[in-house]
Amino acid sequence: MSVPVLELRDVTFRRDGREILRGIDLTVRAGEHWAMLGPNGAGKSTVLGFCGALAHPTSGTVEVLGRRLGRVELQALRRDIGHVNPRHPIRGEESVRDVVFTGLTGTIERPIRWQPTPEQAAEADELIAEVGLTARRDAVWPTMSQGERGRALIARALIAHPRLMLLDEPTTGLDVAAREQLLETIDDLAHSAPEVASILVTHHLEELPESTTHALVIAHGAVVAAGPADEVVTTEIISHAFEHPITVTKEDGRWSARAVRERRTAGAR
Ligand code: ADP
Ligand code: MG
Repeated sequence: MSVPVLELRDVTFRRDGREILRGIDLTVRAGEHWAMLGPNGAGKSTVLGFCGALAHPTSGTVEVLGRRLGRVELQALRRDIGHVNPRHPIRGEESVRDVVFTGLTGTIERPIRWQPTPEQAAEADELIAEVGLTARRDAVWPTMSQGERGRALIARALIAHPRLMLLDEPTTGLDVAAREQLLETIDDLAHSAPEVASILVTHHLEELPESTTHALVIAHGAVVAAGPADEVVTTEIISHAFEHPITVTKEDGRWSARAVRERRTAGAR
């Protein structure tokens, strides 16, 4: 088996006397595409924050791309990770292009004296076209819709040619066509860059791309199940994690979930 791109061992996170995560174990290898599923507040974004070298856990170890958090500078690690984070803290008037360029610098804002090479500028424009933002290339962050921001952040992640892609609810705010386009972009990436590993967070099974290979299900800050997607994304495990009877089906490579309706017994009507 290939070397792990990411390894979390017994990761715990406490804040204000509350245990937000406990005993999280996860190994992601090159070429694997993980889905992270779980109800709101389960701790998905917090787990992704460690994977993306945004924060340190309270205890346990996190190794990203062969480097241990706590022993290396977080900023340096971040340049090798494409993290699409809905809480991306842009405060200024960055344009779409500026946002994409910050994928190369590993920063939130474009450094004042930093200039792209002509090749980098051309690649940025290509990626902007790929995510369908060419007409909005010079739009600035405060005027962008949620969907446009999400797509800009995906182009930002891709320009760094990361070995690890982290996508935190990337389809939030997209209409159905834009969502499908985005899922296609993610599937294409699985083919064009087969060594890249990814983790996609969602609470909608319909948003899992066909390229999904593995799944991690968490609830209340702990792992419910982890492993090959077909063994984990099941009626039983999803119902347990979401504390609600849900029927999971898979058709043409895509999953869907439906709440189980209480059936009237035959003859009752
Ligand atoms: P999810 O992404 O699964 O919806 P989060 O990881 O965002 O869940 O949050 C899990 C829980 O941890 C939530 O109750 C959230 O309020 C809390 N939490 C996350 N980060 C912090 C923090 N830095 N300080 C305090 N509470 C936090
Ligand atoms: Mg979240």
